[in-house]
Amino acid sequence: MGFLSVLSFAHQLVQQRVQAGDMAIDATAGCGNDTLLLCRLVGASGRVVAFDIQPEALEQTQVRLAAAGMDPCRYRLVLASHHEMEAYVKAEDRLGKIDGRDAGVAAVMFNLGYLPGDGSAADESDGERIITRPDTTIPAMEAALRLLRPGGVLTAVLYPGHSGGREEAEAVEAWAAGLPQRAAQTLRYSFTNAPATAPYLVAVEKKSSREYNR
Ligand code: SAM
Repeated sequence: MGFLSVLSFAHQLVQQRVQAGDMAIDATAGCGNDTLLLCRLVGASGRVVAFDIQPEALEQTQVRLAAAGMDPCRYRLVLASHHEMEAYVKAEDRLGKIDGRDAGVAAVMFNLGYLPGDGSAADESDGERIITRPDTTIPAMEAALRLLRPGGVLTAVLYPGHSGGREEAEAVEAWAAGLPQRAAQTLRYSFTNAPATAPYLVAVEKKSSREYNR
């Protein structure tokens, strides 16, 4: 049977925590696979906000969602960097309330690297391709933690195989490892006999809101 792939494990973590009516975020829309998963999980009364800085990615996501017959009321596609997510998400009126306070976001998914099929991606040394970068990825993850509700999850699929990918993966790991235990639980999911370039997952479950000034 084999262990779950890194992507499937990320999906499982999200599936366990996102329920109908929830708010969820895709921080890197790309081709829209994760956005579609989140839209299915939040259901007709929930909401997904998906970010990408490439118009082509949001176009691909829109095509993917439309092909799946997804109701446009369930999602908003935003052409902006994920480190700006807080303003967009707080402007949504579906954050919901628990005991009179914001219920918060159930899951934030990051799938780092570059848009699959990006022609320029074939050349590992190409400086022109659009990749995620630690100087915006880490602030985006900080914002995601502030938005998440206790029990909510952040997933980050990391790709150390492309130029700049290892530095970013290490930055994300160091950031997650430095989170205080009372505030969050963090894990790394990787195949120890896979090549060093193989993708792996870092996930963070928020435990307490106190640290994050929500
Ligand atoms: N989750 C996607 C899916 O399911 O198809 C795949 C995402 S792809 C690996 C990474 C995406 O991150 C690319 O489309 C890229 O344009 C986007 N990206 C790069 N920098 C970004 C940023 N600062 N904010 C948001 N998206 C970014």
